Amino acid sequence: MAAPWEDVLRDGPAIREAAAVAVDAALLQGVLMRTEGQPNDSDVVNFAPFTLLPSAVPSALFEQAYAVQQDFNMLVDAISQNKEFLEHTLASTIKVDDFTARLFRIHTQVLEEGLAQSVFLGINRSDYMFDSGVDGTPALKQIEINTIAASFGGLTSRTVAVHGQVLKVLGKPQEASRLLPNNPSRGLALGIAKAWELYGSPSAVVMFLVEEVQRNIFDQRCVENELWNRNIPVIRRRFRDVFEKGSLDEAKRLYMDGKEVAVVYYREGYVPSNYSEQNWEARLLLERSRAVKCPDIATQLAGTKKVQQELSRPGTLERLLPGHAEAVTRIRATFAGLYSLDMGAEGDKVAAMAIADPDRFVLKPQREGGGNNLYGEELRQVLEKIRDSPQRTSYILMDKIKPRPALNYLLRAHSPLQVSECVSELGIFGVYVRQGSELVLNEAAGHLLRTKAVEHADGGVAAGVAVLDTPFLV
Ligand code: ADP
Ligand code: MG
Repeated sequence: MAAPWEDVLRDGPAIREAAAVAVDAALLQGVLMRTEGQPNDSDVVNFAPFTLLPSAVPSALFEQAYAVQQDFNMLVDAISQNKEFLEHTLASTIKVDDFTARLFRIHTQVLEEGLAQSVFLGINRSDYMFDSGVDGTPALKQIEINTIAASFGGLTSRTVAVHGQVLKVLGKPQEASRLLPNNPSRGLALGIAKAWELYGSPSAVVMFLVEEVQRNIFDQRCVENELWNRNIPVIRRRFRDVFEKGSLDEAKRLYMDGKEVAVVYYREGYVPSNYSEQNWEARLLLERSRAVKCPDIATQLAGTKKVQQELSRPGTLERLLPGHAEAVTRIRATFAGLYSLDMGAEGDKVAAMAIADPDRFVLKPQREGGGNNLYGEELRQVLEKIRDSPQRTSYILMDKIKPRPALNYLLRAHSPLQVSECVSELGIFGVYVRQGSELVLNEAAGHLLRTKAVEHADGGVAAGVAVLDTPFLV
């Protein structure tokens, strides 16, 4: 996947000049993050990390990823409505994983009470890497699908302009003109706006549920601004604000500080550390309400790694999407090998296989946000310790994807400029809205390319490992 800028990669002076232009362009375009030292303060901001150059992406795989996104939207939505499937699939996991168990308890409780919510909004991001097969032909393989708090749709809407300018500075205007426009923040906002409209209360607000530490606020502001531009009011609140001031009326309408809330957009609530006991109570209150949750708790559960692994079993997709044979084929084509570690003969065999050849696999717990997976020797040690214990069922095993590295420069504040061997991960944003049983919106809303140095096995942008990038189709 050679990009047409191998020639300039080793040209020190040209690279240094381009990097200076790139950083200023990023600041001007709003590719911003708050600093680690002052994460809740916009007095000091920095550019979000990004690659100096766009990375080559095979156009056929890029198109394949877009073409399957509506299928994935439909699939996630179907899983979220399939109580039996979620129950059966997560049965072993919730015995050993407290976090998933807690989410599942809320899911069960709101179903028992009867769902007050009738409009559903999904915003997800399906992530892929390009596996280089035995003959070197790259294949699109899904890493995971994020069904809650999928981020960087805002900032990445602004990286194309930066990379376009860099290419021009490096004497490549033709290539600059080939970069694809990309604006996920608009697509996400359109979905939120549609849900808000269907909720049907013009004075109601959209509530962004945000973390205590808000370094990535500008990414969220991109979506917020799109909503304000459509005259849809947005408030930002934390779980603790909901705990203190949120309430439901007799029709389970949600109120915050006297304002009715039409849509709750979670940019929080995806990892155990987001939850104190009070925050769990706040989550329950939100889930019980009539407000459109993005996502509702069932959709969050649909995004667990355990569900991903069960989807790869023969026949499962067919059962979940009856009458959609072509969608099933497109979805399955993106699956890497996934293996259950449930107790029993099948799980025993999988554990033994991984221990014998750990470098072929990734061991994944039910966690989000990067930095949780196990690889190589560590994978072997952990699995050896738990191979006979039910604890192993809190993990799934996955084939390790091996993309071909390419050279690039990763630009980070306060870091030296140096060339790195890198691999990329492509994400496609999906947005859908369902009213009752009818999907009224189902779209792919743009893409995100993240690139990291090969020495890091794991970790996203927020984890400080990957950086924002722009695909250059080849
Ligand atoms: P998280 O929910 O923490 O983002 P992921 O499944 O996306 O979990 O894994 C985190 C990172 O680990 C990915 O961004 C990717 O860099 C790496 N990774 C995950 N699965 C694989 C895999 N099967 N092969 C190679 N790398 C992987
Ligand atoms: Mg991920």
